[in-house]
Amino acid sequence: MSNPKVGFVSLGCPKALVDSERILTQLRTEGYQISPSYENADVVVVNTCGFIDSAKAESLEAIGEALAENGKVIVTGCMGVEENVIREVHPSVLAVTGPQQYEEVVRAVHEAAPPNLEHDPFTDLVPPQGIKLTPRHYAYLKISEGCNHRCSFCIIPSMRGDLVSRPVGDVLDEAQRLVNAGVKEILVISQDTSAYGVDLKYRSGFWNGRPVKTRMTELCSALSEMGVWVRLHYVYPYPSVDEVIPLMAEGKILPYLDIPFQHASPRILKAMKRPAFEDKTLARIKKWREICPELTIRSTFIVGFPGETEEDFQYLLDWMSEAQLDRVGCFQYSPVEGAPANELADPVPDDVKQDRWERFMAHQQAISAARLQTKIGREISVLVDEIDEDGDAIGRSSADAPEIDGCVYLSSEKTLKPGDIVRAVVTDADEYDLWADVK
Ligand code: SF4
Repeated sequence: MSNPKVGFVSLGCPKALVDSERILTQLRTEGYQISPSYENADVVVVNTCGFIDSAKAESLEAIGEALAENGKVIVTGCMGVEENVIREVHPSVLAVTGPQQYEEVVRAVHEAAPPNLEHDPFTDLVPPQGIKLTPRHYAYLKISEGCNHRCSFCIIPSMRGDLVSRPVGDVLDEAQRLVNAGVKEILVISQDTSAYGVDLKYRSGFWNGRPVKTRMTELCSALSEMGVWVRLHYVYPYPSVDEVIPLMAEGKILPYLDIPFQHASPRILKAMKRPAFEDKTLARIKKWREICPELTIRSTFIVGFPGETEEDFQYLLDWMSEAQLDRVGCFQYSPVEGAPANELADPVPDDVKQDRWERFMAHQQAISAARLQTKIGREISVLVDEIDEDGDAIGRSSADAPEIDGCVYLSSEKTLKPGDIVRAVVTDADEYDLWADVK
């Protein structure tokens, strides 16, 4: 009997990507082949994103495409919690499951395309790192599920529940397997990385026969022993963040913090119910940079939140001038079905939102560009991501996370390949990217 083939479409954030990888790893263990095209697949799984309306629209479109091209479609992921919406548009989908319901997705696949029972997982090996949807040299490491906060614009806690941290030994074992399989950069993700272990009261687990606390600092310290780049995403400015800055200054983990601040005006932050924000944040950023001058801070913001006045917005712009963040994304507020913020008074008109978004972007672009200019002439490490059709290497520095930040265009006499880490001198910069000569 031949092994059935599964097509897979993975939409959404890195957390959804890790869910996709887990489902695929399980299916491969059972002997399923992963099909790169719709036509050859026996069934197609679409892992959806339901975070904002445009993501939902994209998910519905992807389901429609998979139905048109293949006809047998299973839907999972964040939008899966809205089964009725999906079934209204696409009544013929075979099954709908929500985020992290790995077993149910796998069960639905079994029904649609029964597994080859002759497959022996002990002889037909799955690679030790599992199935990765990222290139071989970097991988996302998910350390927890869910979130204990209740930000008023967000429906993730209602979809994914409260924080559940993975055992620290399991997380470190997974990281070690990834490194053994050739991964050069680990990107730590969760909904709230700095809260890791709160639900377990930071209890000690075991890794390599020694106790390690289930806590961000101890996790970072253990990861730093693996000799690869370690990058932290979705960190909130709790006091504990101060503890990882020295690890960054010592070169043990990348000097990079992805902190979704979302706003700066205390009034708006209160309405957003954002965690761990207080007016000393600017002073703390300054202190972090004193300890670790190389630190890159990335963040995202929302403009046009209900009740945001011109004064609040101006406060945000002034704060940005002070904070001098390196990498920034900005969204115009849009209501998400089921979010408490929908009930707030004083919605901001669309034209005002657009105007504020444009002013915010222009303001920040000038800051980002000026910060990148200061890198010209400096020597940096670059991880090569790809070689373009002209044979030139494109990579990223410690300041650039894949997909969301800039890149470094390299010129080199040596032949490079993805996964190489080289030293290079920066020769030029624009608003997002750098150009550098390999030494
Ligand atoms: S911290 Fe806030 S925005 Fe982030 S997942 Fe939790 S509730 Fe949502």
